[in-house]
Amino acid sequence: MPTIITHSFTGLMGGSIVFGRKMPVRFWLLSVVCSVLPDLDVIAFSIGIPYGHFFGHRGFFHSPFFAACCSFILLCLFMWEIKLFSKQWWKYWIYFFILTASHGILDAFTNGGLGIALLSPFSNTRYFFPWTPIEVSAIGGLPVLFTQRGMMVLWSEFCLIWIPLLIILSLKVAARHFCKKYFFRKC
Ligand SMILES: [Zn+2]
Repeated sequence: MPTIITHSFTGLMGGSIVFGRKMPVRFWLLSVVCSVLPDLDVIAFSIGIPYGHFFGHRGFFHSPFFAACCSFILLCLFMWEIKLFSKQWWKYWIYFFILTASHGILDAFTNGGLGIALLSPFSNTRYFFPWTPIEVSAIGGLPVLFTQRGMMVLWSEFCLIWIPLLIILSLKVAARHFCKKYFFRKC
């Protein structure tokens, strides 16, 4: 997996790129939660569920199917004021779905561990993408990041995830300023 730091960063960048800065704290918290939530399945190791099991690490909880359910549940629990299945509701549902699903997608670009059960619950086959440039992070929380291997992982994530996301955000901000300046309307 990429580190919890990078998954959280992905959530914050996703919110900034799609919605901009002026969103409530609850929205940012949910964005970060969605991005890191699939990795709660590491608990499986401590309760004796094998890595390759349906509910094992990188199993069902890393699938787009879980992301769809997770987005629905989070909206019902924490954004209940939005009318169910309204246009605005779907907008948030798609956003939180993509954010949660992005976790498994990013993991599928890493170069270690078992693959991701992207088709779960229909198949427990684990997948990687043909190109796996992201250094896999060791399981063990933040302390493992402060090792030579941890620094290598962070550098890989910085180059392959942080920089592209920052470039996309910069392009969005630049495009908005350009529109405001030359077309005198809200973009
Ligand atoms: Zn993961």
